[in-house]
Amino acid sequence: MCGVVGVVLPSHGHEAAEVASTALFALQHRGQESAGVGVSDGSHLMIYKDLGMVAQVLDERRIPSLAGDIAVAHCRYSTTGSTVWENAQPTLRLGPRRAIAVGHNGNLVNTRELLDQLQGGRGRLPASTDTELLTALLADEPAEDTVDALRRVLPRVRGAFSLVVMDEKRVIGVRDPHGFRPLVLGRLHAPGSDAPGLWGEPGGGWILASETAALDIVGADFVRDVQPGELVVLEAGRDPVSVRYAEATPALCVFELIYFARPDSYMEGRNLYEARRRMGMELAREHPVEADLVMPVPDTGGPAAAGFAEASGIPYREGMVRNRYSGRTFIQPSQAMRQRGVNVKLSPLREIIRDKRLIVVDDSIVRGTTTKQIVGMLRRAGAREVHLRISAPPIYHPCFYGIDTAIERELIAATHTVDEIREFVGADSLGYLSVKGVLAGLDLPYDRFCFACFDGKYPEPVPYDATERKFMLETPGGVA
Ligand code: SF4
Repeated sequence: MCGVVGVVLPSHGHEAAEVASTALFALQHRGQESAGVGVSDGSHLMIYKDLGMVAQVLDERRIPSLAGDIAVAHCRYSTTGSTVWENAQPTLRLGPRRAIAVGHNGNLVNTRELLDQLQGGRGRLPASTDTELLTALLADEPAEDTVDALRRVLPRVRGAFSLVVMDEKRVIGVRDPHGFRPLVLGRLHAPGSDAPGLWGEPGGGWILASETAALDIVGADFVRDVQPGELVVLEAGRDPVSVRYAEATPALCVFELIYFARPDSYMEGRNLYEARRRMGMELAREHPVEADLVMPVPDTGGPAAAGFAEASGIPYREGMVRNRYSGRTFIQPSQAMRQRGVNVKLSPLREIIRDKRLIVVDDSIVRGTTTKQIVGMLRRAGAREVHLRISAPPIYHPCFYGIDTAIERELIAATHTVDEIREFVGADSLGYLSVKGVLAGLDLPYDRFCFACFDGKYPEPVPYDATERKFMLETPGGVA
């Protein structure tokens, strides 16, 4: 999972990097390892990227030197390649045929096959990501222009990719035929204006972003989703041009709606706070239990806990405080960091918890270690009973489409029964929401989504040994 943004402004105010970086700030939850922005002044591309959070990397000292009217931006959560500077995005390739910069959300599943198609092989890649390889293939392709190159290369690419691609004149938004990862199109207003006048002049200020929350932060209007199998070409002063390069077979990652995306974002026409609240109501119907209080694991368990409390009639309280400056536990790359993460992330409100029978609502259990620490913390704070309720089904299978949910043997549900998991985490009871319950909360049909980590039905075949997939482009000594 990563965050991507693309911006096209017609005003010649050279503020595209600033708009893109601001929008990216709203997508920080999607990736915290690195951030970057690429900008074009109409004839040259320039990139600035580094390891770290968006606000650190793209601060006000950097942005003014990145002048241009079109930009792409990216924050990274790694699924292929280590967390090193070379692997930060956007990627940049100044080829003999074209110069392009790419920001990628997702993960390719035929990387090895694509590498065989790269003239000069692995030695030509300065980084070890699937995105670097895709960028090289696009820059090399003997096509008329970038759109033509995309139309020729993308049918050979398998897996999850929501892309923002920039050349000197245009930004192009792309979604893979399944649309695993979201990508939305928005319209930018003139600065300081509530009127529908567009940024600078009539005809276009446009933005692409992973989530609608990124449109809100820059005051853009949501126009529509980029469709699975579609390219949307944005150029200053023109309406977006839609190009269908593949037939759509939609399979949006349902975990985006359950947990990953921001609650103020909209997907498939649903506000995610409301969808999660309704999932919490379903959870209360599926797994009722007598208790004194319902509380969320902050922050992401909040909407489902509110729904659980509403449906069960049991009072809602916040029993844990989250340090708002700590990153998401799940998203950090190593087990050691994850373990350290929960200790600095949450602390109990003892006055609320002491002597109470608690229903604790969270949105997932991946390895089980974080949940065990949370239950232990609540018990040490005096909780009488801890009943865990999870607003998603058990995760039995790894994700190959852009979420590093660990390999199968690390997923606790793949190797333990629900009762064994309950025992491991130290809870009095444990209940997971069913796939049916998720769909009832969403009020949408199963066939629009990928549920593979819950039911093993992978929409796109996965040809690789799972244990190798993350570092397959790395040489024994690290990044080439
Ligand atoms: Fe989302 Fe799971 Fe499918 Fe991955 S396997 S895209 S996490 S639903």
